[in-house]
Amino acid sequence: MRTWICPGSFDPVTSGHLDIIKRAAGMCDKLIVAVGVNYKKKPFFSAEERKSMLEKATEDISNLEIVIFSGLLIDYAREKHAVAIVKGLRAVSDFEYELQMALLNKRLDESIETIFLMTNINYSFLSSRAVRELAANSGSIEGLVPDEVLEDIKRKFGKGGK
Ligand code: ADP
Repeated sequence: MRTWICPGSFDPVTSGHLDIIKRAAGMCDKLIVAVGVNYKKKPFFSAEERKSMLEKATEDISNLEIVIFSGLLIDYAREKHAVAIVKGLRAVSDFEYELQMALLNKRLDESIETIFLMTNINYSFLSSRAVRELAANSGSIEGLVPDEVLEDIKRKFGKGGK
């Protein structure tokens, strides 16, 4: 069974994330979506909230497992017998960081590949941060996040989102 792992903060999940998740799930037997708990980042949504929103947004994808993980991604990937880490690439700015991570992970475990999927052009501008900024300032986030989580995000921002 070919297992891939798709890590991220998903703070919150966006339509760009969902696009990458759907495409990746179509290319492997099992996709583990790993919600990272990063000691350096203070997320807006708790890990449980981020996981729960991902679950709501991906109910129709059968070969998914959504997990919360902390520590080194490569260790977690190995523990889960994943053969690849899959990531989305938006712009050259993503590439520099992602190349560094991919090479580092390759050094830590040569058997695990990093696979990049190019962003869907419709979402190339989209990030969780942009969604948070919009929602916090009464901007519309419709279409930018999966419909299933729209209300959860608005609720979290109080009367912020439209
Ligand atoms: P963000 O940068 O939005 O905070 P994450 O850290 O949660 O996202 O990213 C998880 C993965 O999803 C990363 O590989 C990131 O490059 C990718 N990703 C995020 N947004 C998009 C998008 N709009 N299109 C393609 N890939 C994306």
